[in-house]
Amino acid sequence: MLTTGKKEFWFVVGSQHLYGEEALAEVKANAQTIADALNESGILPYPLVLQDLAVSADKITSIMKEVNYRDEVAGVITWMHTFSPAKMWIRGTKLLQKPLLHLATQFNESIPWATIDMDFMNLNQSAHGDREYGFINARLKKQNKVVVGYWERPEVRQQIAQWMDVAVAYNESFNIKVARFGDNMRNVGVTEGDKVEAQIQFGWTVDYFGIGDLVQYVNAVTDEEIDALFAVYECHYEFDYGTYSRENWEKSVKVQASYEIAIKRFLDDGGYTAFTTNFEDLYGMKQLPGLAVQRLMAQGYGFAGEGDWKTAALDRLLKVMSHNQSTGFMEDYTYELAAGLESILQSHMLEVDPSLASNKPKIVVSPLGIGDREDPARLVFDGKAGDGVVVSMADFGTNYKLLINEVSAYEPTVPAPNLPVARVLWEVKPNFQDGVKAWLENGGGHHTVVSLNLTTDQIITYAKLVGLEYVVIK
Ligand code: MN
Repeated sequence: MLTTGKKEFWFVVGSQHLYGEEALAEVKANAQTIADALNESGILPYPLVLQDLAVSADKITSIMKEVNYRDEVAGVITWMHTFSPAKMWIRGTKLLQKPLLHLATQFNESIPWATIDMDFMNLNQSAHGDREYGFINARLKKQNKVVVGYWERPEVRQQIAQWMDVAVAYNESFNIKVARFGDNMRNVGVTEGDKVEAQIQFGWTVDYFGIGDLVQYVNAVTDEEIDALFAVYECHYEFDYGTYSRENWEKSVKVQASYEIAIKRFLDDGGYTAFTTNFEDLYGMKQLPGLAVQRLMAQGYGFAGEGDWKTAALDRLLKVMSHNQSTGFMEDYTYELAAGLESILQSHMLEVDPSLASNKPKIVVSPLGIGDREDPARLVFDGKAGDGVVVSMADFGTNYKLLINEVSAYEPTVPAPNLPVARVLWEVKPNFQDGVKAWLENGGGHHTVVSLNLTTDQIITYAKLVGLEYVVIK
């Protein structure tokens, strides 16, 4: 997928000079043991790098300034081995502009009742230090994550790993650039929004381009490039000629190959990591980009249809957070209302993300009832099963609001031979009636990003970091 650059996290361990140099040497050794164990566990997606002990206000301030300055440092994990007076942390914590995780753990798992004395207790007083440190983060409204538990436990490491993914996505949020080919679909409300506010609050750059700017890139793609990419398609997908002659089918698919090359080149030239199209704005294009868009989503670019730049940026954000696993743009389409089977069929006119595919996609060419263009090629597949979250962001005039609904996706069991698009099916939580009702009452949109890889907690962690109002339906 599109890289976000090399990232690491800094491990900052709190103590103070009160206990003497010998005690501090032990604190440092224990911290190194924990850092090494976490790095060697294979659970953390990014390395954790131990820093100098946080034993004075000057030291803490200097570490946090360095974190802000270094692009490769995505966030800070703190641990209170001993008591570390919180006034020392105020300046540095206030300056810190990156995500913070307070790991409430302790070097020893059990209290050694047979040998414990005051020296041991002074050296191992995480419970004491946690409260002093937690107070100042709460008072500073730091929106830091707190993970509690013994550092050897897989579930503790898993929580750290999930937070790291959110922290890297938060950093990437300020680098998200959306190229909009055409404006929003005419008359549609929920896809609109305040782009200046989105840049202030989330860091998203949203730029408009006339479709002609892309057409120039399409026209510059060579036949050799198209043939080479077509050969890649042959390796990855089933070819379904349907009622078309092989020649006409290939001609249609190769139009999409030229779009894939052109859009990727356009995005990479401008540093864009997400984009939108609009079927109402295709002057000079033979087809609506379908297969091309799907292929680019699979490579990690964010996307949404009908000029919906909010969802495109959100798609890119969650793709970074999920390492582009089972995460993509989606649209609520059709209800299944039969008793006991209540669920929602998800799809889009073409552009369903193959990162959600449960089977090998096939390339299908089929007419598109809207847009008034040639029959476009698209990837058709069934979505995979799993529990996940579906997220939608809307502009409510005074503020942005994020809707988060937990869903349970399942693989379709009945064929749909006349449906020429990919399909994904899910049940909403807590149940169909209450889940859909809450979604509608809160003004959730029809364009969403779904992830079968991320958790509600991760989405909330991001929302808190950017001060984004959110509603959870579960
Ligand atoms: Mn749509």
